[in-house]
Amino acid sequence: MSHSLECPVCLHNQDENIKFIVGPCRHAICVPCMERIVYRSSSGNRGQDFLTSSPDDLDNVIVTNMPLRGRCPMCRGILSLIDLCKYNPDEEFQSQFDFDFKPLRGSTFFLSMDNAETELPWIQFLSFPSEGVPFVLLSGGEQLIHFEQQSCIYHAKSQTFSGTLKTFQNQTWSISVQFSSGLKCICRGGIVIESTEVGPMDGQWRVTWPSVPQESAAEIEVGSNCFSLYGKRYRIELGHDENGKLEKNSFMWPDESETIVQTLNSINGGEIFLGENGLVGEAEHSMLKWTTSHDEVKEIHWQRIHPPTVKTNRLFVPLCPSGGALYMNRHKVTASENAMYNPDSLWGNTFIQGNTFGMAAYHFEIDFSPPYISYDNIMCSLTWPTLDDGQPIPSRIYFKQLMWDSKTRTFEGVIDWMETHGTTWQGMSSWTYQMVFDTNFMCILSGNIVTKNATGTVEMSRFGSDLIYLNAALKDKFKDLDDHERQESIRKELSRLEAEGISPMTEYLLQDVLS
Ligand SMILES: [Zn+2]
Ligand SMILES: [Zn+2]
Repeated sequence: MSHSLECPVCLHNQDENIKFIVGPCRHAICVPCMERIVYRSSSGNRGQDFLTSSPDDLDNVIVTNMPLRGRCPMCRGILSLIDLCKYNPDEEFQSQFDFDFKPLRGSTFFLSMDNAETELPWIQFLSFPSEGVPFVLLSGGEQLIHFEQQSCIYHAKSQTFSGTLKTFQNQTWSISVQFSSGLKCICRGGIVIESTEVGPMDGQWRVTWPSVPQESAAEIEVGSNCFSLYGKRYRIELGHDENGKLEKNSFMWPDESETIVQTLNSINGGEIFLGENGLVGEAEHSMLKWTTSHDEVKEIHWQRIHPPTVKTNRLFVPLCPSGGALYMNRHKVTASENAMYNPDSLWGNTFIQGNTFGMAAYHFEIDFSPPYISYDNIMCSLTWPTLDDGQPIPSRIYFKQLMWDSKTRTFEGVIDWMETHGTTWQGMSSWTYQMVFDTNFMCILSGNIVTKNATGTVEMSRFGSDLIYLNAALKDKFKDLDDHERQESIRKELSRLEAEGISPMTEYLLQDVLS
């Protein structure tokens, strides 16, 4: 006799032929509910202090920023799609994992933008060779560090790679990154760094600046030689000789002048040795003194309050633009910005909003191939949420149920997310379009989009007010004219557009582009 299992989320039970799956906490949840939990699009946490977060906060940061993670609705424990797979190796779930990560083979993701104020090690590039184990190069490093082969997994549906590697100082890095559609860039993810190393300075300190007023004191927590103060992160470089005498100690003070804080001494200027437990400043009330290259703050005093309390330090380093780093696949970045202008027909024209290509741009190809919406601009992948089942935003989605009336210049078509991608996007299942163009195909004059949500509700947005779309090659129309002819021609076009009913907003933006 078996008693039936009931999903705590949707209350379906096992008898209804629904598969169940468990996480490390052993709470059984049905597969569709578990998928919703772990695929939920992560939002990124710009400006959040990743380093000094309490363990609970850090868990939140990890769940929010690492792809394929969520929380158990029963006990709030962390669930990871990868752990689920391990716990229940026979589940259908596993079919979505590619242990050879084939799609990534031959790609390298380079650090292209780095705005992070951090002294933590950065990944310089992440490479997937055509054969063998993937590897990284760290900033300032010369050696390639390979992933542990058995830890490497690629989840095809969400385009997420996960793997673990060991770095210097016995740190374990669990890396999980989601790639944009077409594998152009890393759109979200990060590294969970676990280290059992206890730095000599680890623990709690009271910090004072003798040359600034007495009130200015702060408490900091150093972990794995890193600490954070007033929203900035620092990494202390420490060395010692065979007698335990500290030498070459320093950290950077990331302000405009790049102050270097160095030369750690005891308060009376004496040298410092590691204590019995390998720590600095263990003796009660012992005060340490840093010397700086700053003009006004020449000294910083540190007094130890507590030795380090945790043996395993864990921190999270974001590997995504919201954490200050953009990784691009150089070979995949193609310019699609060569739109042409066809004054005689819809076909051959591209319509864009915000004067930007690939941000929901409408493409009508000259060869009458199916028109589509382009999300080719990587900003879509980086700043907009994934589809609701965790898939990256596609670089193109094609219109269906097409209708084109050349007399009224009215185009109709449907974007069906459910039908095309089997899921919703931000709760929307389909968009039904009607676009009315002007006689010279310079803009979308009017029309609307009817959005159907998964819940059955319907919303409408209007071209000309909610949405302004202009021909991407508008300037080409006037490019062969001299200045005078150009002004005259623009004036004529504007009065024609006014007669055809252009909205004031569309006219304003059109003039702006042509000016
Ligand atoms: Zn369920
Ligand atoms: Zn649980």
